[in-house]
Amino acid sequence: MLKVENIRKDFPILSRHVNGKPLVYFDNAATSQTPQQVIDAIVDYYSNYNANIHRGVHTLSQEATDKYEAARQTIQNHFNAKHAHEIIFTSGTTHSINLVANGFSALLKKGDEVIVSTLEHHSNIVPWQMLCERTGAILKVIPMNVEGELVMSDYDALLSNKTKLVFVNHISNALGTINPIKEIIDKAHNVGAAVLVDGAQACPHVKTDVQALDVDFYVASAHKMCGPTGVGVLYGKEVWLNKLPPYQGGGEMIAEVTFKKTTYAELPHKFEAGTPNICGGIAFGAAINYMDNIGFDAIASYENELLDYGTQKLLEIEGLKIYGTSKHKTSVISFNLEGIHPYDVGTILDKMGIAVRTGHHCAQPIMDFYKIPGTIRASFAFYNTKTEIDALVEGVKKAKMMLS
Ligand SMILES: *Cc1c(COP(=O)(O)O)cnc(C)c1O
Repeated sequence: MLKVENIRKDFPILSRHVNGKPLVYFDNAATSQTPQQVIDAIVDYYSNYNANIHRGVHTLSQEATDKYEAARQTIQNHFNAKHAHEIIFTSGTTHSINLVANGFSALLKKGDEVIVSTLEHHSNIVPWQMLCERTGAILKVIPMNVEGELVMSDYDALLSNKTKLVFVNHISNALGTINPIKEIIDKAHNVGAAVLVDGAQACPHVKTDVQALDVDFYVASAHKMCGPTGVGVLYGKEVWLNKLPPYQGGGEMIAEVTFKKTTYAELPHKFEAGTPNICGGIAFGAAINYMDNIGFDAIASYENELLDYGTQKLLEIEGLKIYGTSKHKTSVISFNLEGIHPYDVGTILDKMGIAVRTGHHCAQPIMDFYKIPGTIRASFAFYNTKTEIDALVEGVKKAKMMLS
């Protein structure tokens, strides 16, 4: 059982006021809040051992290197990767996806097929469209149904021996749908295709085992799971990371440089050119330790309670429609009030100290499917409460009165 009142004390920001009202933070799908334990790790780094890593003989550099590599191992253990060198530090999910998409330029040829889904964030669409433009590969799309689920029989029909790569998210940021990724991965492997799973939205809700999934690439951002912005991870199976060429050239990623020929460093350094976000990587490790200590089973069952409660209370409002009604979903509620623009509701809620997101949530194909410009999205984290949901429901009622 999760003790939410104790947990909330770990997050300094949760006790602030916004527009004279206690902050109700329901924009967790965009970025999560940061506990004191992670803030302390950041302060500790800059106060005590700020130094560049890997090349230094001096004590500070060695301490920073040790902590950075320890964070890599924390991430490895969390995602159950086989090797620490399969964990590549990046600046986030977007960077991780671009790294892989760029690498596949060397592996795809004209007429090859790659598969995406309708439920994706733009960062899991656009880099692949760019890849298709460069290579002449063809982009196929798994459709969705009105519940916000992927149509798996259509996925089966898209797969063939031409399919080289499938990229889908684990959980949709716009609707909260949990996709059947194990089935997607197994079916892709049956035709010899590799799979990249965008775990940005899953990482705060579920503990993923990349070996059990047998996924080829899994990507996530620290800032969605209580860590800082500007750091994330690319997990890749060793055999795939060895096949991909480096993404960026520079320091740290080389074995030897001469003007005749440069040889590249071993994994993971081959993909980590330049000075990384050292403090961010260490704080990412601290964030994972924090969440693992609370436990993902406890987090999931508490968030499900919030989801059920919020869904039921919001649906009591007449004219309110929820988008994304899969039985398999996380604590994201995307909704609209009939005849009212989502932006106007978001603005009124902000006046009451309630932070939600309005718009297309970087997932325009989903909005096109429903023929709407956007939604109001309330996304709950394990530090939110039913009392806060009550405030949201009151706020939405008020907004409806003011706007209709
Ligand atoms: C947030 C998010 C991204 C983008 O992550 P960045 O940290 O902005 O790179 C991609 N996909 C999904 C599903 C997301 O929720």
